[in-house]
Amino acid sequence: MDWRQLDDTYVMSTYKRLPIVAAKGEGNYLYDTEGKEFLDLFTGLAVNVLGHSHPAIMQALREQGEKFLHVSNYFYNPPAIELAKGLVEHSIPGKVFFGNSGAEATEAAIKLIHKYAAGQGHERSGIVVVKNSFHGRTLGALRLTRQAHVYQDFPQPAFPVYEVEPGDMAQLAQVLKENKPVAVLLEPILGSGGIVTLTVDYLKAVETLCRKEGVLFCIDEIQTGMGRTGRLFAYQHADVIPDLILFAKGVGGGLPLGGVIAGEKLQSLFAPGDHGTTFAPSPLSAALGNAVLKTVLDETFMQNARDNASSLWSGLERIGAEFPGLISEVRGKGMMLGIVLEAAPEQVSQLQRAMMDKGILVDVTQKTIVRLLPALILEPAHVDRFLAAFREELSKLHKGVTA
Ligand SMILES: *Cc1c(COP(=O)(O)O)cnc(C)c1O
Repeated sequence: MDWRQLDDTYVMSTYKRLPIVAAKGEGNYLYDTEGKEFLDLFTGLAVNVLGHSHPAIMQALREQGEKFLHVSNYFYNPPAIELAKGLVEHSIPGKVFFGNSGAEATEAAIKLIHKYAAGQGHERSGIVVVKNSFHGRTLGALRLTRQAHVYQDFPQPAFPVYEVEPGDMAQLAQVLKENKPVAVLLEPILGSGGIVTLTVDYLKAVETLCRKEGVLFCIDEIQTGMGRTGRLFAYQHADVIPDLILFAKGVGGGLPLGGVIAGEKLQSLFAPGDHGTTFAPSPLSAALGNAVLKTVLDETFMQNARDNASSLWSGLERIGAEFPGLISEVRGKGMMLGIVLEAAPEQVSQLQRAMMDKGILVDVTQKTIVRLLPALILEPAHVDRFLAAFREELSKLHKGVTA
């Protein structure tokens, strides 16, 4: 079967595919239909936090799969209730709304924020986001995604959105004062926006200012959550307390699941009929979510992930020092890394292909940033293998650049 040609004929081309036809995944490895093995540092775009076919996930899949797959929101759904409890107990006091994806988490957030504004007599309106942010592709979520190539051809819902430079407190203070928005929404580390890390000091200052001005402080943890940065949620490094947390990607253990954790100001605003969806929370996704949550909350597991991430970081630092003109910066935190290359976009996609030929999958974002999103089960041997291959490819690029 020529899967590539069939895909070309029958599936819309909304993503530029890499030339790999997936056949099987196991741990940190993905295998294609020709039996070639790939070290997977791409992890389905930050979804597979426990890698492929993790025993805890496989067990949850079998156990819940044999019970029931769907019941609708008209019935009590124990795996989802358990997951909501777990998420709340390890984040902020509040309640959970479940959807199927990141975009749906953002849509729920937008509606909740508007419902809150209505309850406050609409004295404030609009949402502040950061330049280059990514919050999803449905029309509401797209309004908050500040990357022109993503939104430019589509209609924009009418609610006001204000864009600020990450890290610029003076600008944010001015927007809060002059425009009277109702909420600020931030990714602690901008993912598709190029792995831009918001500092702990900035997050703290934003929280303080939001409290002072009576503005909701909301965090998009869709990519940074579920242990990726070394804590369950990335905002926890900054010791702040958000009013609203958006989650998705890793939370369903590979199955579609997203949603929001709403703090005390927002948790009781939705009444029956205000919002909903048929599929979510899928009992199967939620059962897998419980397996993921239990695994990443194990301190030994998490410490091991932090240690392996830290050898990856120090290895990249060494390589960066070797090729100072080529790596301008390594950004991110824990198992979320952006290696900013001083090279042309074609050279960076060539490097991605060369890594693939060596059996290693990496992502590229914003054209020249190599993005690594390893599974939390990464081992020292995988770190070494990546570093050796990456160093070799960089040295080729280096020679090419200087020649
Ligand atoms: C991926 C992502 C989204 C959108 O999630 P989808 O499941 O693709 O709709 C929103 N926000 C952030 C930070 C993301 O990384």
